[in-house]
Amino acid sequence: MQHDLKQQYEAMGISAPVYEFGEKILENLRERFGEIDRTAEFNQLKVLGAMQKHQVSEACLLGTTGYGYNDLGRDTLEEVYASVFHTEAALVRPQITCGTHALALALMSNLRPGDELFSPVGKPYDTLEEVIGIRPSKGSLAEYGISYRQTDLLPDGSFDFETVRKNINEKTKLVTIQRSKGYQTRPTLSVKRIGELISFIKAIKPDVLCMVDNCYGEFVETIEPSDVGADMVVGSLIKNPGGGLAPIGGYIAGRRECVENAAYRLTSPGLGKEVGASLGILPQFYQGLFLAPTVTASALKGAIFAANIYESLGFPVVPNSVESRHDIIQAVTFGTPEGVIAFCEGIQAAAPVDSHVKPEPWDMPGYDAKVIMAAGAFVSGSSIELSADGPIREPYAVYFQGGLTWPHAKFGILRSLESLVGKGIVTL
Ligand SMILES: *Cc1c(COP(=O)(O)O)cnc(C)c1O
Repeated sequence: MQHDLKQQYEAMGISAPVYEFGEKILENLRERFGEIDRTAEFNQLKVLGAMQKHQVSEACLLGTTGYGYNDLGRDTLEEVYASVFHTEAALVRPQITCGTHALALALMSNLRPGDELFSPVGKPYDTLEEVIGIRPSKGSLAEYGISYRQTDLLPDGSFDFETVRKNINEKTKLVTIQRSKGYQTRPTLSVKRIGELISFIKAIKPDVLCMVDNCYGEFVETIEPSDVGADMVVGSLIKNPGGGLAPIGGYIAGRRECVENAAYRLTSPGLGKEVGASLGILPQFYQGLFLAPTVTASALKGAIFAANIYESLGFPVVPNSVESRHDIIQAVTFGTPEGVIAFCEGIQAAAPVDSHVKPEPWDMPGYDAKVIMAAGAFVSGSSIELSADGPIREPYAVYFQGGLTWPHAKFGILRSLESLVGKGIVTL
């Protein structure tokens, strides 16, 4: 069997040395992969249990049109999400267009003029800078008279508790905590650490709302930030919780009042959650959530495999080969534009869609350097599917994530290595 598998890889462009290198790396990862499988098992039962508890039925898979009054499937799905995250309520809608929209919605609906928003974990995700008004932008929180304050993490990645205490004042209404490092170099926060931070903040000001940007973090651990005191958790359905099947959407799960505020902002005062036709999208939302624990596990294995491969070849990787994981993003620093390009070409060549296309660096709006992206996804821009991107500037790092199945994530990483070997950037 092993022999056949190797031939199959060879037929798909993976040479014997690259394949064998991968197998050697994998030998040391069995135990860790076992742990990831146990987390997936736990989370699978959590999702299944929520679906059974709320009696998901065939009727829930039908959609509504028009106003969408009494949409059983939509309302039940929101109860399922609330159960999964152990919150009072949830808003899960195709009308939430992306993660940034979900976060903006949670912020704008729960803050009022004169309030202050506070980030105790440094600069938030790029797109939120315009939502908040850190970079001036039409319709930002700043335009509505909502101020913003931030405390950076200490150089070692720990919380600057002393400064956090000083920055919480009578105006502080909402605290935003980003779980994933996104495209920064700080460590991703574990749910446990998020819980410690929330406890600290609530001890200073009990009525402050704590929101967690949960993007890329869902189902990586057996607990979520809402299990450790977060009033709202927010994310995108074209990342982990959509399981690769949701073609659009975002969610906000949390305290009933917070979720209702968000619903009144998303639709209209007076209408809230009562409107919003689900059209034909509910089967993908339900089935995607059902698959999300194992899909997340596959992506996580891919990230760890990549870290171990490239670290052993001498490239700096974040997180490193042995660190515990709290999101699905893997950064690899190649140090040269050629390395970044070769890696992305390999990932693209491994895709189920557009594998024949060669990615090229381009001037993306909002970036100060050219960016190369590899994404051969079924859902455009989906980053739970195997994907990578890298700005063509120092330190020449790529950010890699996703993989709907472990075998595909593995193939993608071997294909990237093949590409680097083929260009003489790496010798095995
Ligand atoms: C992806 C992401 C977002 C924004 O989501 P989009 O769907 O790209 O708008 C926000 N925060 C973090 C940490 C993310 O990873």
